[in-house]
Amino acid sequence: MNAAPLAFDTDLLVIGGGSGGVRAARMAAARGARVTLVEAGGTAGLGGTCVNVGCIPKKLYSYAAHYAEAFEESHGFGWQGAAPALDWARLKANRRNELARLNGVYQTLLAGSGVKVIHGRARLLDASTVEIEMRGAGATRRLRARHILVATGGRPQVPDISGREHLLTSNEMFDVDPFPARLLVIGGGYIACEFASIFNGLGSRVTQLYRGPQLLRGFDDDVRRFLGAELAKKGVDLRFNARVDAIERTRAGLQVTLQDGSCVEVDAVLAATGRVPNVEGLGLEAAGVAQGKDGAIVVDGHYRTSVPSIYAVGDVTARVQLTPVALGEAMVVVDHLLGPPAGQAPRRMDYEFIPTAVFTHPNVGTVGMTEAEARDALGAVRVYRSEFKALRHTLSGSSERTLMKLVVEAASDRVVGLHMVGAEAGEIVQGFAVAMKAGATKAVFDATIGIHPTAAEEFVTMREPVAASGSTAPA
Ligand SMILES: Cc1cc2nc3c(=O)[nH]c(=O)nc-3n(C[C@H](O)[C@H](O)[C@H](O)COP(=O)(O)OP(=O)(O)OC[C@H]3O[C@@H](n4cnc5c(N)ncnc54)[C@H](O)[C@@H]3O)c2cc1C
Repeated sequence: MNAAPLAFDTDLLVIGGGSGGVRAARMAAARGARVTLVEAGGTAGLGGTCVNVGCIPKKLYSYAAHYAEAFEESHGFGWQGAAPALDWARLKANRRNELARLNGVYQTLLAGSGVKVIHGRARLLDASTVEIEMRGAGATRRLRARHILVATGGRPQVPDISGREHLLTSNEMFDVDPFPARLLVIGGGYIACEFASIFNGLGSRVTQLYRGPQLLRGFDDDVRRFLGAELAKKGVDLRFNARVDAIERTRAGLQVTLQDGSCVEVDAVLAATGRVPNVEGLGLEAAGVAQGKDGAIVVDGHYRTSVPSIYAVGDVTARVQLTPVALGEAMVVVDHLLGPPAGQAPRRMDYEFIPTAVFTHPNVGTVGMTEAEARDALGAVRVYRSEFKALRHTLSGSSERTLMKLVVEAASDRVVGLHMVGAEAGEIVQGFAVAMKAGATKAVFDATIGIHPTAAEEFVTMREPVAASGSTAPA
């Protein structure tokens, strides 16, 4: 990208101050570009979904929920006394304070890199012009940008059912008031499972309904089955192949009627039934930007849209909807527009072996192919699986079990899938993801010395392959 001609007010105009937008803006400004970032949510919106209503508050609440188990389990280790009660208002206030601190950090980082932040809602008028409805000012202003990056993220989608006005989404759950003694979670994806776990841990009686036969579609079948069993053991009332027909407010709360005619009575209903790209009112049609399913912006390998001056990254492109992916994509765009940092090759985004975690209780951590994907794509595979009670639970009294699984391509001996359900699975799988990205074979896993006593050592000590899921016969 050359110096901007006078006709442009800015070199790069970023729409959306979330994970992808902030990263792109900071990196581009640090390399000398004139960058303007427009964020609709005010200072409190900086950081986007992840900071404000996603990864961070969710993980904080997951920690909060873990204490319930920890208090109970401490008795087995000699601690005495009744479990303390949850102060929900205090947890919410502490979360809000921490998020405000993070919003401030983002603001400082952006200012420090020379990014001009405008608080308002942006709309494309054409390939280079953006109109901004200034936040709280009732005024608009127009800017012309040499390049525009759309990073407006996604938003929750709720089912079109009678009584949908009673549905909460993940956006509202963090501040739900009063604390729901009885909660219905609709959905079987990772957000639904995490909220079911969190509120179950915090003390709600949780029912989780999913229209499919198992939770976490797209994950390894063993993981799906195992997690369902663990959540049920912890008290989540899981109902599969179930759909909501209608919700009605009664004196006793919310009466939810299912399609099979049965009813569930609860205090709150969370619809965690998917997310769609945030494209409403963005002017994509006016600018001629091509869109796909649910309005997702279509991009090429450099995240360029059908309009050459307009780029898009993150959830608005509806590819892999994770913060580190949005960050990675943003850096590819910056390298593409401004060239890579001195002495480095332009970054590429590789969607293979993206590790991910589900912060349920217990956690899920996974990287690479499921067993079914590997069998389809590679033919002969060897599978190693281990289920056990973690050392901690020999005294804790908890019946929680851990699952670990490796999927190995038979021809090359390469480990192509690694899956875990158990405490700190996210922390454990992150390390193994590096080895897998480097092409580690099962022989390399076998030659690695374990750290004892840990759960993680099981990944380097599994010796006997099993056949298809559930059997212990060699493949
Ligand atoms: C409950 C929940 C839990 C999650 N947990 C995890 C997790 O554990 N790990 C993980 O990796 N990912 C997680 N995610 C996903 C992660 O939050 C997203 O993938 C990530 O935030 C996407 O970043 P983004 O830059 O595409 O968009 P976002 O972070 O959504 O940012 C978009 C920004 O654009 C702004 N905006 C929208 N329209 C306009 C406009 N017209 N003008 C100006 N500004 C606009 C919005 O206000 C927002 O700030 C979670 C998501 C949710 C909902």
